[in-house]
Amino acid sequence: MTTSNVIAIDGPSGVGKSTIARAIADRLKYVYIDTGAMFRALAVFFHRAGVEESEETKIKEALETLKFSYGESEENLVSINGENLTLVIREHYVSDLASRYSKVPEIRNYLAKTQKEIAAHRASVMEGRDIGTVIFPNAFLKIFLTATNETRAKRRVNQLKEKGEIVSLEQVIDDITKRDERDSSREIAPLIKADDAIEIKTDNLSIEEVISKITMLEHSRKGEMN
Ligand code: C5P
Repeated sequence: MTTSNVIAIDGPSGVGKSTIARAIADRLKYVYIDTGAMFRALAVFFHRAGVEESEETKIKEALETLKFSYGESEENLVSINGENLTLVIREHYVSDLASRYSKVPEIRNYLAKTQKEIAAHRASVMEGRDIGTVIFPNAFLKIFLTATNETRAKRRVNQLKEKGEIVSLEQVIDDITKRDERDSSREIAPLIKADDAIEIKTDNLSIEEVISKITMLEHSRKGEMN
């Protein structure tokens, strides 16, 4: 059985998931859901509170009472206990933090529930690492985006440059390689392509070409379902 209202877009860091998923959601009138932003926000929260990723009991207790809000507006995409974390989660150091805390089962379970609730009643384009494998294994369309480490690192360096953060290409290649390794080798919900996901290699494609490919796939899947 398929869950008709979810397009799952997964893939490693820096592959263009956010830009692509957001554009598809805009064009096809779906809600765009950035699950990485959720992991980033919880990582910042626990890091600031001085709670290590190994302190699972403390994390579990905190999750029982904290107030997590996602999707209020573009300016207030994600907040915890009323504090808007939308800007800080995009800082370079937070990528590594998020990858470390995302191994914690309590955090994954908490966000899995949140993600399922958000998409329960709305047609959604949800992007992350485990959407097609764990969160919505019945999504009607699953895309797995890939690109070489070098392509992804170059894109990341440019993104950071636009925000005024200067990081060397070597540093970013090193960061994304480590992060992918950690994300792919963790026990729970590792980054892997779902068997029935369609892989799109993006190295030699423009953003617009990837968006059109996915849009066409959406139309044909919808057609098959009707
Ligand atoms: O996609 P983004 O780079 O914002 O994700 C940050 C980190 O959050 C990833 O490296 C990964 O460890 C974690 N993540 C995850 N599962 C998701 C989305 C993100 O484990 N669905």
